Amino acid sequence: AKRVAGNSIETFVSDMHQRARDRLQLAADLRAALESDQLHLAYQPIVSLRTGRIEGYEALVRWTHPTRGPLSPAEFIPIAEQSALIVDLGGWVLRTAARQMACWQTLWDDERYVSVNVAASQLTTRALMQQVRVALADSRLDPERLVLEVTESSLIDDIEASIAQMHSVRALGVRFALDDFGTGYSSLSYLQRFPVDVLKIDKAFIDALDDPDGVLLVRAIVNMAASLQLRVVAEGVEGEAQADALQRFGCHLVQGYHFSRPLPAADVVAMPQTFAVP
Ligand code: C2E
Ligand code: CA
Ligand code: CA
Ligand code: CA
Repeated sequence: AKRVAGNSIETFVSDMHQRARDRLQLAADLRAALESDQLHLAYQPIVSLRTGRIEGYEALVRWTHPTRGPLSPAEFIPIAEQSALIVDLGGWVLRTAARQMACWQTLWDDERYVSVNVAASQLTTRALMQQVRVALADSRLDPERLVLEVTESSLIDDIEASIAQMHSVRALGVRFALDDFGTGYSSLSYLQRFPVDVLKIDKAFIDALDDPDGVLLVRAIVNMAASLQLRVVAEGVEGEAQADALQRFGCHLVQGYHFSRPLPAADVVAMPQTFAVP
């Protein structure tokens, strides 16, 4: 029995080392990817249920690894978050998305925006303000066309400093969205303190729209957002019935596979520019 236990511990330790090596390797590969041409952004439309028009796009990073092929951000973002790499990656995403939106701005006579995900370390290292300035100066994008998505958990690491930095960035004219709303652990009272303009209701709540309690919850969130004068985006809308329900509750903005998957920049211009809405 002793030997079996010994062997399983050895196996455990060696698996652990293997995983640590894999993570280190992937982090090194990602650093290289950032410096070569392996990363790009995909853009997913955010659609108005009132007009069917595209109001903006969420920029989502994509990585085609030279030997492992396409990797999901769910695999590599957490690894990047363990080091300063996420700050550099975040800066690259901001500059790239801002340039792309500035270019599209010349094509379309409307006020579409680009929404960019911001990681906790961009806030805690106070890099965000400088990165936003650089991205805006470099692209000449109107600040009103940039939205930054933060999560509750990225803010509560260092609440006061994060809020202060958000106020400075907002003074430039840039807006903030609270991403994955409803999945964090922070109290609702924070909602009033975070300087955000938009709430993004997490997909988990949209998935629950086919049961009565789920309906009540989404309605409550939409109503609360309205009374706080926040815009609401429902994330992960996959079906017609969900879009119908959201329309009835007064949720005006939706994002999800039902409308479009995230697409490479070249396909965004080619796609239909309005959608059929309930
Ligand atoms: P997120 O910010 O919550 O982004 C929404 C995710 O939901 C995206 O996954 C998107 O492709 C997916 N999605 C959109 N509509 C639907 C739908 O109808 N059904 C389903 N099942 N999924 C839908 P993606 O692109 O794999 O990104 C995953 C997460 O990785 C993001 O979640 C975000 O937390 C992170 N991420 C992606 N790009 C960046 C980035 O540039 N910077 C940072 N810091 N994080 C990023
Ligand atoms: Ca997001
Ligand atoms: Ca989200
Ligand atoms: Ca998420």
